[in-house]
Amino acid sequence: MSSEVNLIGLLAGADADAAAIGAVDAAPLAFGALRRQVERSVEALNAAGIGRGDRVGIVMPNGPALATAFLGVAAAATACPLNPAFREEEFAFYLADLRARALLVERGSRSPAVGVARRLGICLLEAIPVADAAGAIGIVATDGSPAAAARGGPAAAGDVALILHTSGTTSRPKIVPLTHANLQASARNVAATLRLAPADRHMNVMPLFHIHGLVAGLLAPLAAGSGVVCTPGFNALKFFPWLAQCQPTWVTAVPTMHQAILARGDRDRPHAAHRLRLLRSSSAAMPPQAMARLEALFDAPLIEAYGMTEASHQMASNPLPPGRRKPGSVGPAAGVELSIMDEAGRLLPQGSTGEIVIRGPGVTAGYENNPQANAAAFVGGWMRTGDQGALDGDGYLSITGRLKEIINRGGEKISPREVDEVLLDHPAVAQAVTFAVPHDTLGEDVGAAVVLHAGETVSERELRGFAGNRLADFKVPRRIVFLDEIPKGATGKLQRIGLAARLGLAPAPG
Ligand code: AMP
Repeated sequence: MSSEVNLIGLLAGADADAAAIGAVDAAPLAFGALRRQVERSVEALNAAGIGRGDRVGIVMPNGPALATAFLGVAAAATACPLNPAFREEEFAFYLADLRARALLVERGSRSPAVGVARRLGICLLEAIPVADAAGAIGIVATDGSPAAAARGGPAAAGDVALILHTSGTTSRPKIVPLTHANLQASARNVAATLRLAPADRHMNVMPLFHIHGLVAGLLAPLAAGSGVVCTPGFNALKFFPWLAQCQPTWVTAVPTMHQAILARGDRDRPHAAHRLRLLRSSSAAMPPQAMARLEALFDAPLIEAYGMTEASHQMASNPLPPGRRKPGSVGPAAGVELSIMDEAGRLLPQGSTGEIVIRGPGVTAGYENNPQANAAAFVGGWMRTGDQGALDGDGYLSITGRLKEIINRGGEKISPREVDEVLLDHPAVAQAVTFAVPHDTLGEDVGAAVVLHAGETVSERELRGFAGNRLADFKVPRRIVFLDEIPKGATGKLQRIGLAARLGLAPAPG
């Protein structure tokens, strides 16, 4: 069935009265009410001229309304949620690159995305609260009444439900289209790995504009007929009070969040009656010491998983007990097939280190409009992940390195070339190279080395301010070093990987 209907089919089996979407400050929205709301959203979007195949940018604060807006938009068209922290220039790039037909914001939004949409002539839609329940919204068009949608009605399983961008090796992020079938397969995989059941409750702290939050955080619990409390986003100070209030049975997060929870854990002991039966970590490497401390703090297993946007998130996961968790490993394949490939495209025997490749029903059919990236990534039916690893005799995967150029800042991915290009626009800068700097809790942070034009001066602070006007905060280099020359690797080529060490930049404390 799941291969024939759109992702709203994930909601079909749940009890109509059971809580689907919850909030820290509102009564939950039940599955029956959610299903009706999604139908109304499809009608409202169609009436506003938006239908199947049309791209709708969504820029809303994290929380229950973003969750239901995503479901409503995906049921009718293609949802393109964007990080609300982006700067105007970033919104202009993403909305144009997506060829968005509409932008959905919350009523009264002050996001710079609104001005960008007006300038680009993109139809503006607003989400307005229609009841007190969590995420109870209606979608209305603000500017006139365009013609009815060319392709109305609910989306089909093969339609693209979601588009996200991933950081590329060029400055241009790559467009990853994911179909309803892709997302359903992945959501069901996560639910199966964690043995989610209607009695479970997830507390989502992950952003709902990233694949981790959307698939593991939102769709997996709904696929199991269980509810998800959508918080406004991770907040170390509020985590323990929310835990006591919402009584979730599980939480998925990135390692940086888990470490922030640990740091508070000694002060705010978990509520004695907490119901957590597991914690899950993905999107960046979880240090084994932190894993052991978290398990002791909550008396629950920490399940580390390996995910990627192009795979609709989960690729490998450690199993729940009585299966064996191996600290430092991301576990066996979970929902996709995994193998290790060499540069020439040959699959390598067990135990060898090489590029991790995947194939399976959650994996995107290919990047949009990017034959070069597709030719590099898809080999003999497998997709190259850009990560390096090895499988042990039990089929458990260890990630040993990275072949792609992204910076993984606590799970947030940054394309170093995008940052280079902004720095190079500063009149004093002649050369700029952005690279990962080791960081105690984030894993990696953003660093940059610049060479100035002869006779020019600019301070690190000024340059960071310049970058911060054009890039969301998480992409702005925390450290900028000024050099006479950028060191080249042994081959004479610029090598970002290992540059921090060659420049003697010590890990920054967390
Ligand atoms: P994203 O597309 O944002 O989900 O990022 C995917 C990338 O995050 C992967 O290709 C890996 O480089 C990294 N990643 C995801 N999960 C893990 C993990 N458990 N350990 C180490 N790296 C991870």
